Amino acid sequence: MKTYTPTIGIEVHAELKTNTKMFCDSKNDPHAGEPNVHVCPICMGHPGTLPVINKQAVQHVVKVGTAIGGEIASYTEFDRKNYFYPDIPKGYQISQYEFPLVKGGELAGVKITRVHLEEDTARSLHDVTEGSVVDYNRAGVPLMELVTEPVIHDSKTAGDFARELQLLLRTLGVSDANMEKGEMRVEANISVSDSMTFGTKVEVKNLNSFKSVEGAIEYEIERQIDMLEKGEKVVQETRGWDEIKGKTFSQRVKESANDYRYFPDPDLPKLSINVDDFISDMPILPREKREKYSNLGLTREQIEIIISDRYVCNFFDEAVHDLSSENGAPKLLANYLLTDLIPLQTSSSFFTTAFPKKFADLIKLVNTGEIGSRVAKDLISEVVIDGKDPHDLIRERGLGQVASTDVLQSVVDQLIADHPTVVNEYRAGKENALQFLVGQGMKLTKGAARPQTLLEILKKSIS
Ligand code: MN
Repeated sequence: MKTYTPTIGIEVHAELKTNTKMFCDSKNDPHAGEPNVHVCPICMGHPGTLPVINKQAVQHVVKVGTAIGGEIASYTEFDRKNYFYPDIPKGYQISQYEFPLVKGGELAGVKITRVHLEEDTARSLHDVTEGSVVDYNRAGVPLMELVTEPVIHDSKTAGDFARELQLLLRTLGVSDANMEKGEMRVEANISVSDSMTFGTKVEVKNLNSFKSVEGAIEYEIERQIDMLEKGEKVVQETRGWDEIKGKTFSQRVKESANDYRYFPDPDLPKLSINVDDFISDMPILPREKREKYSNLGLTREQIEIIISDRYVCNFFDEAVHDLSSENGAPKLLANYLLTDLIPLQTSSSFFTTAFPKKFADLIKLVNTGEIGSRVAKDLISEVVIDGKDPHDLIRERGLGQVASTDVLQSVVDQLIADHPTVVNEYRAGKENALQFLVGQGMKLTKGAARPQTLLEILKKSIS
């Protein structure tokens, strides 16, 4: 068998979170329960109506462009993309062609070609008993389209790219980017080739989960290689993805390139953009967070878990804010967050109603040795969920560790007096005799002694 190189380019459409639609003041709520409740003559495409550009939508795309290091257009315009379909009431979609808002950029190691702004189409609903309905709630919803360069060569990179984009859109607050709801839709252009020239590309649409993105790409690479091996030709076409069968299937064959007859929309003004006016409130980006957390001593796994959930991430940021990075306190905080707190999460509001500052106080007590890990684990839900002060709880219940040198020195004196044989064994070189003495010391203090301090004083006193 020859060696084939797969080449993949990704196109993503994301519904932007704005109050109103792209060109009118109908509510932006494409997932409203009832069809056709958020409509007006503009998004229904009635003759004689005039569109007005939604500034918030432009702002969202400029933020994305800034985050990916793309070039923000100083001049941009909207074009009409002409085609006929029931879900497109005007007979054209307002999109951007020659002058997209953003050119270039990079995300998760993947080069980006462009990011532009357009309007979403309506949605056709088909029901056996009730017939078909065209729902215009979604018509005119602001839609961001992002296109990558054909620089991806495997399914994992494509999936990771989509995940990173979702995280970015959520961090920027520009889209909820929920793939199952169609708020983020991924298409993959896939070809394989055994030479320096690209093979025939196949477009796979409607990938509504990361798993489908990866599965469809893997399937398609294999299918195309099989065809070429048999001496068959790959047909340029659009294919869908059957999640259950785990296969792509032909939807329509492209006989010639679509001619959309793009031309600038004469009803809309050209825009010149001053980036500074648009990005005053950029949040901390995922890559900046990764760097910050890595400097705090967190592991890669910990970092990815924390940044993948914005509520957990905000909670962690607030808690870590007061902790000095010395002595590994932030790392300790992350350990407790991941192993003891996240498993307690009962609802999505858990981390918005929990008490980060109290959590930080608890971790400080562990880090200074005032309480042991057993006590910290016992108190964590009262402190973080109920907001009780850990200092109060420890005082009231007498849970603090004894770390006072004076107190522990008298415990050590007692231990030496009680166990002369063991002391001599240690002096003779039996290292683990010391562990026995620490154990006896913990017993003597009913578990209140700070073991590390006890050990240090024992060592000093015996040797
Ligand atoms: Mn598009």
